[in-house]
Amino acid sequence: MTSSRFVQQVLFFTGLISGCSCANAEWFSYQQSIMGTSTTTEIFADTQQQADQCSRLVFDEMRRIDALMSPYIEQSELSDINRNAATKPVKISNELFELIQRSIKFSQLSDGAFDITFASVGYLYDYRLKQHPNQQQIRQQLSALNYRNIQLNAEQKSISFSHKNTRIDLGGIAKGHAVDNAINLLRKCGIRNALVSAGGDSRILGDKNGRPWVMGVRHPRDKDRVVVSIPLKDAAISTSGDYERYFIEDGKRYHHIIKPTSGESVDQTWSESVIANDAMTSDALSTTLFVLGTENALKLINSLDGVEAIMIDANGKMFYSNGLMPPTVH
Ligand code: ADP
Ligand code: MG
Repeated sequence: MTSSRFVQQVLFFTGLISGCSCANAEWFSYQQSIMGTSTTTEIFADTQQQADQCSRLVFDEMRRIDALMSPYIEQSELSDINRNAATKPVKISNELFELIQRSIKFSQLSDGAFDITFASVGYLYDYRLKQHPNQQQIRQQLSALNYRNIQLNAEQKSISFSHKNTRIDLGGIAKGHAVDNAINLLRKCGIRNALVSAGGDSRILGDKNGRPWVMGVRHPRDKDRVVVSIPLKDAAISTSGDYERYFIEDGKRYHHIIKPTSGESVDQTWSESVIANDAMTSDALSTTLFVLGTENALKLINSLDGVEAIMIDANGKMFYSNGLMPPTVH
């Protein structure tokens, strides 16, 4: 999650995208800028009224999660944690508690590659203002960056930090969570086919007129080129790239995915896409694999059930998880 400073409210209807023999249902498209990114919703509905009403639930949910979890909003629950958890246990909502718990699971799974305390150093970067910390500043903060500095108390539903400089940020998982909630709301609204995207995180409900949606992975150095297209239905796909939020100084790329061991931007990967059943998993895993780098990323993804990945390393070489590899003819 990034900034809410520029919440725009653009709502538009593009009408019929493709015909369908089923009754009079049509596809309706909506877009708004929320959580510092473009959020889109495509809904297959009987009437525009139904689509409008259901799409409103999606965007309201995205704004609710942003208000709760944005580090840029002073009154957010997340900001409250970052202000106080190093001095006393802070009581938090079930929702945040569970999301932090899930985040720690991803840390344990990846030996700390995914770590929401990256923010202990991450806050020193400003990609818009092209600011980054120097080595001394990183060194001062690096011991605060460790998920083991987070203590969750399940009985009290509280969180505390054991290091005075620890901060957390849910930018690597919150959008996936928001997309999952949005899909559940659409289901409850009576929708059976839809696509919800928040930045690089998308989830498909059902299919597109009886066929899979074809989701493209863009070339990390050419936004107009798609390097691979993947047909998907009832699935989530997330892409983490080094081209989303970055600046270049003295030939070095400073971007928003931080290697917890060094406090610096990861430089082994250009792009990492993960397919999973839900968007929280695909979101967190795409960030995780991005940090791990090809070899360890492939090991991890191939050891997990129900997830696949496509990776592009810093030489532009592509790698696929086992489930996406074409079979060998013997
Ligand atoms: P986005 O969809 O915002 O581009 P990604 O899924 O690619 O997000 O994750 C990048 C975001 O994850 C960063 O903006 C930051 O908030 C967060 N992040 C960066 N490094 C880490 C890390 N090592 N562990 C967990 N989260 C991270
Ligand atoms: Mg992610």
